[in-house]
Amino acid sequence: MTPPDRRHLLILGGTTEARALAAALDGRAGLRVTSSLAGRVARPRLPAGEVRIGGFGGADGLADWLRAERVDTVVDATHPFAAVMSGNAAAAAAATGVPLLALRRPGWAAVPGDDWHRVPSLDAAAALLPALGRRVLLTSGRQGIGAFARLDGLHFVARSVDPPEPPLPAALDVLLERGPFTLDGERAVLREYRIDVLVTKDSGGAATAPKLTAARELGLPVVVVDRPPLPAGVPVAASVPEVLEQLAGRGLTGR
Ligand code: NAP
Repeated sequence: MTPPDRRHLLILGGTTEARALAAALDGRAGLRVTSSLAGRVARPRLPAGEVRIGGFGGADGLADWLRAERVDTVVDATHPFAAVMSGNAAAAAAATGVPLLALRRPGWAAVPGDDWHRVPSLDAAAALLPALGRRVLLTSGRQGIGAFARLDGLHFVARSVDPPEPPLPAALDVLLERGPFTLDGERAVLREYRIDVLVTKDSGGAATAPKLTAARELGLPVVVVDRPPLPAGVPVAASVPEVLEQLAGRGLTGR
């Protein structure tokens, strides 16, 4: 329970930016900060300060939690593709009247020399792949790998933090790795596995961007899955400093 003299900020996390925000506010007087993680990753990088792990039980469960823990503001700092959680946050905020702010790092933009193919979904990426290459570096996360399971003529190299689960493509190498990744490392992966096409979500951010540079250097096509939209009406900040500024304006950064 939050004492009445402390404001309570809930950060919906699972991203670099969410950890940076928690670190920036950790230990401030007059402020309680709770970071929430889904519990998807076996050994998550934990943010500074108070952490809770596991789902809330849908929008209603989150709304109950916001009331019970007397939350003053929610920052949705989940990954741009965590659309269910973002939708639940918007619904719970509307139901409880607790203000919600979304932290979304900007998406990536193609530069001259890039051969990008933007698609609306992982299924659309899978449909396009056979026209672009035969040896695929799949960096779209272990949860969506099933979309590629039926592409029998292609060889996949899938990179993820934890092992992917079936259904899986028949020809598959798995690289269990967690970013950030370096440009030299990405060049090496593309060469070693003789990759001729890359698949990525438009996650944005610096930690996983070097693969895009490496693909450009080698002239490889990149299938970029577009972000799902944010729920309507949710204010958005593009960086941690921007969030801190907005929170300070509401007296929510402690002392
Ligand atoms: P999702 O599909 O949007 O959410 C599915 C369910 O997971 C939610 O309904 C919620 O369960 C629970 N959940 C998600 N994020 C949570 C959080 N921060 N705290 C507590 N519960 C959460 O989410 P997802 O795409 O699987 O992502 C899960 C987590 O991994 C998020 O924290 C996200 O930031 C991080 N992540 C995702 C991606 C990606 O590509 N999707 C990449 C990197 C990191 P209840 O309904 O029971 O509350």
